[in-house]
Amino acid sequence: MQTPSRKADFPGLMTPDGKPWHYLDTAATAQKPQAVIDAMVNALGRDYATVHRGVYARSADMTAAYEKARSRVQSFIGAKSANEIVFVRGATEGINLVASSWGMANLKAGDRIMLSMLEHHSNIVPWQMVAEKTGASIDVCPLTPDGLIDLDALETMLTPQHKIVALAHVSNVLGSVLGAKRAARLAHGVGAKLLLDGCQAAPRMRLAMQELDCDFYVFSGHKLYGPTGVGVLWAREEILAAMPPYQGGGAMIDRVTFEKTTYAPPPQRFEAGTPMITEVIALHAAIDYVDALDLEACFAHESALAAKAREALSQFNSIRLFGPEKSAGIVSFEMAGVHPHDLGTILDEDNVAIRAGHHCAQPLMAHLGVPATARASFGVYSDESDIAALMRGIERTKRIFG
Ligand code: PMP
Repeated sequence: MQTPSRKADFPGLMTPDGKPWHYLDTAATAQKPQAVIDAMVNALGRDYATVHRGVYARSADMTAAYEKARSRVQSFIGAKSANEIVFVRGATEGINLVASSWGMANLKAGDRIMLSMLEHHSNIVPWQMVAEKTGASIDVCPLTPDGLIDLDALETMLTPQHKIVALAHVSNVLGSVLGAKRAARLAHGVGAKLLLDGCQAAPRMRLAMQELDCDFYVFSGHKLYGPTGVGVLWAREEILAAMPPYQGGGAMIDRVTFEKTTYAPPPQRFEAGTPMITEVIALHAAIDYVDALDLEACFAHESALAAKAREALSQFNSIRLFGPEKSAGIVSFEMAGVHPHDLGTILDEDNVAIRAGHHCAQPLMAHLGVPATARASFGVYSDESDIAALMRGIERTKRIFG
């Protein structure tokens, strides 16, 4: 079954003069459905109050809505308990939280951290920072020729010294989907924990934490059709319970004296300060929106569009495609003799928005032997008119560059 295009739900998909805007940069950030915009406006307006502190009714209502959003995330990702859901600013903060809290408490000199060649900088740099502090070292799992994380190689590389394996569930550059269950078996086989960076998977795949059997999962709200400034860290309750706080401040404490402070249990221990109240409420609306569409149908819809785009792009001799044939709705390519930024600028004149650059994955760019790629990424609102506009723009670019 194919999900029909949802363009009408997304006011952002129009230019100011009312023309269609062919938005092919959903992997960077997704456009917002009206339901999310409405939820945000109401949370900032008629319903606005702080959470967890006020004794007045509006604050109690807001607290209930905030905690209801936590339970909604729990059901969305199949977590055992709402206490396993920590609201963070985004995936970047989620990984930094795990690297500094869990990492500083569990890594020491001689330990190893396993990453892969296709990771986003946010799943590289926090581990380098904790490796520098602890004396742990980093290994990099290679890719298969078509751009999947090579799990056969992972199997041979993992040792009992590996304490954490941190991998992208879906690559933001290549759209490759990780064999996550096998990765979990391999990591656990040597006693390591598995962190999955679910930034690109959460908007595209039905998630079930118990089945995935990972230990940490992170994603960002803004890629899931929700607002910026909110994301989710999921971890098993017993792992969170053993982790020291990441930041200190209000809301994360049990009791404070100048002599000693004791901390609240998770998830509050990891949510210091006044949280991103309106963003969390709007994330709830975003989850309701995508869940109602059926994420399995969304995945089929977006990967079918990616396959069509790959096929259309492969008609050009000058175009080199990266990544696997079967992509989760993300297609990276280069056009010989045209810098991706020039291509992006020409396409923009035709109201086609693609991403051009290193996609915060410079090690992957070096591995592919390019400074940058052009990337078209699809969302629930994408349809064939977007591919047709992309192809018209590419024809025009070809003519411009002779
Ligand atoms: N990981 C992946 C795979 C991503 O695509 C992104 C965003 N491009 C991130 C991590 C970081 O997400 P954020 O910037 O929302 O924290």
